[in-house]
Amino acid sequence: MSSTLNLAAEQAKDLARDLTAARGTDYYLLNDLLTDSEREIRDRVRSFVDAEVLPIINDYWERAEFPFELVPKLARLGVVGGPITGYGCPGLSRLAQGMVTLELSRGDGSVNTFLGVQTGLAMGSINLLGSAEQKQRWLPGMARLELVGAFALTEPDHGSDSVALETTARRSGDHWVLNGAKRWIGNGSIAHVVVVWARDEADGKVKGFVVEREGEGFDSSYPEGYTAELITGKIGKRAIWQPDIVLDDVRVPEANRLANANGFRDVSRVLTATRGGASWEAAGHAVAAYEAALTYATNRQQFGKPIASYQLVQGKLATMLAETTTIQLMCFRMAQLQEQGRLTGPMASLAKMHTARAARSVCAQARDILGGNGLLLDFHVARHMTDMEVVHTYEGTDSIQSLIIGRDVTGISAFD
Ligand SMILES: Cc1cc2nc3c(=O)[nH]c(=O)nc-3n(C[C@H](O)[C@H](O)[C@H](O)COP(=O)(O)OP(=O)(O)OC[C@H]3O[C@@H](n4cnc5c(N)ncnc54)[C@H](O)[C@@H]3O)c2cc1C
Repeated sequence: MSSTLNLAAEQAKDLARDLTAARGTDYYLLNDLLTDSEREIRDRVRSFVDAEVLPIINDYWERAEFPFELVPKLARLGVVGGPITGYGCPGLSRLAQGMVTLELSRGDGSVNTFLGVQTGLAMGSINLLGSAEQKQRWLPGMARLELVGAFALTEPDHGSDSVALETTARRSGDHWVLNGAKRWIGNGSIAHVVVVWARDEADGKVKGFVVEREGEGFDSSYPEGYTAELITGKIGKRAIWQPDIVLDDVRVPEANRLANANGFRDVSRVLTATRGGASWEAAGHAVAAYEAALTYATNRQQFGKPIASYQLVQGKLATMLAETTTIQLMCFRMAQLQEQGRLTGPMASLAKMHTARAARSVCAQARDILGGNGLLLDFHVARHMTDMEVVHTYEGTDSIQSLIIGRDVTGISAFD
């Protein structure tokens, strides 16, 4: 009896390993649109994910620990800073950046979010809204991942309506004094460079302030008054930390105020650029879940035949492939429009809304096809499914994206 059990466990382990063997489903041959260098970047990240991320990530995810061991390896990948040119950043095309995000998410959502916060939100804010001196001061160290970044916008009482944020900034000589609270701040307890959005008490405008850790490494301290407490009990993206942050009279030099951030409109410019990232992330989760379900269905036998031979299962796989392909088509076109400077905010919202909905559905169907094993971390799909719950909500919830699209197509705003 016990040897039968051992055999079953061994077979399950082999199958679980097979579920992550990279194939990179691309039914409509979209990869033909990539240049050689974009293909090289995709393959570099894919190999990294297979060799370095997949073997370790379930363990970190289960313990809700951040995989610090990946930080220097991510730095060596040469993709941090993505589309930013100069300052030691790789200056990737939008398609190449999309492939980086897709491949990382195909492996793991937490690792992708770590890099997304670093490249898109933190470095993106500095690159878009910092002075030349500020960019030179922070971006090269961030590109080498010697400096980890965070982006602190959301507050306990302001998520979707972050435009109404209450954190204040008061000018005091050549410093600013920040007071308030932030919530869900990715990397907010480990970052060296935290971009904090606060309202200037004098003119009421939202401005960006870079709060820096004093010293290098992950053990150095934050300025007095900055405290971060980890949010625990998360059911998605468990291998990246998001703390609650309290700012109690935190002093920031005027030199750390982002020189060109002058109102919430500028925050929105950063968010429009990152919304594209959330869509590529959805693509990665969908590809991973679809491929795992396909492999599982061809291996798992019930009623004497592989479950893939049953019409109902084939119907589900066909639907999942259609959804995955629409996500990829939307992402590729979005990248082209972004490259040409023609991607509008509502266009980015349409992509985020649709790709997140479709990927959420693909992950849920994959979990169904894996039966009981779909609930186990070993089989990976459960992790993609719960990570997709986060993508559904962050970078603008599904409802907020649809309100932005609704306003654009009707000319009537259903929200302020
Ligand atoms: C894992 C994770 C990581 C995150 N990382 C960061 C980060 O690094 N930095 C950062 O600043 N923030 C971050 N966030 C915050 C994220 O952006 C917010 O959670 C998100 O914007 C939603 O805000 P909320 O959670 O307060 O929900 P709420 O805004 O309270 O929304 C609750 C529900 O109400 C709906 N709703 C709200 N307004 C309307 C309306 N007018 N009409 C119809 N429905 C409406 C929403 O769609 C949603 O369904 C993160 C969140 C998570 C979960």
